[in-house]
Amino acid sequence: MAAWLRSGIRLPLALGIALLVAYPLVFGSAYHLRVLTVAGIYALMVLGYHFIFGHAGALALTQGAFFGLGAYVTGILGSQLAWSFPATFALSIALPVVLAALIALPVLRLESHYFALATLGIAQVLLLIAIKWEGLTGGPNGLSGVPPVVLFGAVLPNGWPMLLLVWGVVAAGAALAWQITRGLTGRAFHLMRDNPLAAQAVGLDIGRLRLAALLLGAGYAGAAGALYVHTLRIISTEVLEFPVMVACLTMAVVGGRTRVAGAILGAVLLVHLPEWLRFLDRYYLIAYGALLLLMIVIAPFGLIGALERWRTRRWPEPAPTPPAPLPLRRPQLRAVDRGTKLLEARGISQRFGGVRALNAIDLTVGHGEIVGLIGPNGSGKTTLVNVVTGVYRPDAGAVVLAGQAITGHAVHAIARAGIARTFQTLNLVDDMTVLDAVAVARRGKTRRGTPRITLARAHGEAIALLGELGIAEHATRRCGGLAQGVKRRVEIARALALEPRLLLLDEPAAGLNPTEQRDLAARLRTLAAGGLSLLVIEHNMAFLMPLATRMVCLDHGQVIAEGSPDTIRRDARVIEAYLGAEARSA
Ligand code: ADP
Ligand code: MG
Repeated sequence: MAAWLRSGIRLPLALGIALLVAYPLVFGSAYHLRVLTVAGIYALMVLGYHFIFGHAGALALTQGAFFGLGAYVTGILGSQLAWSFPATFALSIALPVVLAALIALPVLRLESHYFALATLGIAQVLLLIAIKWEGLTGGPNGLSGVPPVVLFGAVLPNGWPMLLLVWGVVAAGAALAWQITRGLTGRAFHLMRDNPLAAQAVGLDIGRLRLAALLLGAGYAGAAGALYVHTLRIISTEVLEFPVMVACLTMAVVGGRTRVAGAILGAVLLVHLPEWLRFLDRYYLIAYGALLLLMIVIAPFGLIGALERWRTRRWPEPAPTPPAPLPLRRPQLRAVDRGTKLLEARGISQRFGGVRALNAIDLTVGHGEIVGLIGPNGSGKTTLVNVVTGVYRPDAGAVVLAGQAITGHAVHAIARAGIARTFQTLNLVDDMTVLDAVAVARRGKTRRGTPRITLARAHGEAIALLGELGIAEHATRRCGGLAQGVKRRVEIARALALEPRLLLLDEPAAGLNPTEQRDLAARLRTLAAGGLSLLVIEHNMAFLMPLATRMVCLDHGQVIAEGSPDTIRRDARVIEAYLGAEARSA
């Protein structure tokens, strides 16, 4: 029994649902039923807001506007044209989605605080239209005579019928949200909100994910707005005013912004709070604000987050058994390709203000080659990797992968085309498990039109990759608690999950002890023998020299030498610019 509650359906969740069902049965007055109906309507709006604010991590302030638009569509068509519920309800969902799509184009690209401001502006424009366009909206007075919901010929009045309808829609919305976010897509959102660059580098199109989140949320808000006017039976500009958005945001923060249960708890709690605090009279707003602040300080992940943390402390979960490995079938390098060019960067120049980070660089990597890239700090090594992977668009030059120009392509597109990378400064998400961190890169790999890979399959493939790098025993741990050397190898496993043709490693041996370094070098050699091409940036010559089949040395953004490790070791310019300095400092 106890085990059942702790696994599958959780104890607090079961308790919460029981309380929610008991509430209207115990307090059955028309007033209580109405408050709970409104709470359900807010829960629906917040469930939708979770997609963009919680999962995608963008502070959009349009959810209130989508709610208001949905409300006006139903309000106007219902009261003026006597359209039926199915038609008005569908349009109340569709129009906010269309509006979201229209504003997404210019707005989604903005930096976070401009994004918040721009979305707030859109809400204000809608409010102005509702106030000024009196003929249509009734202006500040609004419209009365909104019909009740009529379904299959039956009128659903307020009280139990409306309560059940609203919570039925909440349940359906919750099930849909859970279904969408519980698998690999949820992991993709997690990576993208905590580390957008890493997300793009594993082939995730974060623009598309954000757009999907905004559109989904708009649909939920529109549905909530429609149900709201059916409950109130009138419509006024109140539905477009800022307090609606503030309430939605507050509910998401208080409940927990990525958990379905958080949306429901936040909505039920905050709809009731004003009622409970009514005795405070004039001091009500102060108390409300103080309670909110307290919440944010003591439960930064919302009430549901706090509950989850408490539960895992109280009943630590047994380490889950890692899945069985499902090895990836890597394409083998054809003998005819070995040694031919895979990557060609020609005449790459990149400036940052007055700094010439790269100056007409030429670099090639052949199929199955391990190219070592060296040079003093600031010589442009990382910048070159960033240009090749699309993080920077070079001022001049072209990058070609297997005959295809990829200069200026999006980071995620280049990743999908076959170039994977690791980062000089680690880019893992602390509270993701190692397994998820690697598995998420399998999503980016899925081609359009083919069915999405399941989480279970991605986990199996991830554990196989972790095994290849000798770190399978860390699979179920969270990335934040790992030693530096393990983190480096998790990043390599994540990069390999893209099934790349070329892997760019930026200082992979940093933080590894000598045994781990030898181990990593051997594994990289095996990968290269299997056909993977590697470009390895390293300062550690004991690691790099025996590994590299060819080396390139940069200084001040230019190639100063190129050749076998032996020629590089003896090259006068390399010793002058780099190796000498390294030897002196060693
Ligand atoms: P390396 O990896 O070889 O140590 P980098 O490629 O990181 O060198 O840096 C090359 C030069 O470009 C340095 O002078 C660095 O300060 C500059 N640089 C790199 N990235 C940026 C950036 N995003 N903005 C401004 N300057 C940068
Ligand atoms: Mg660097």
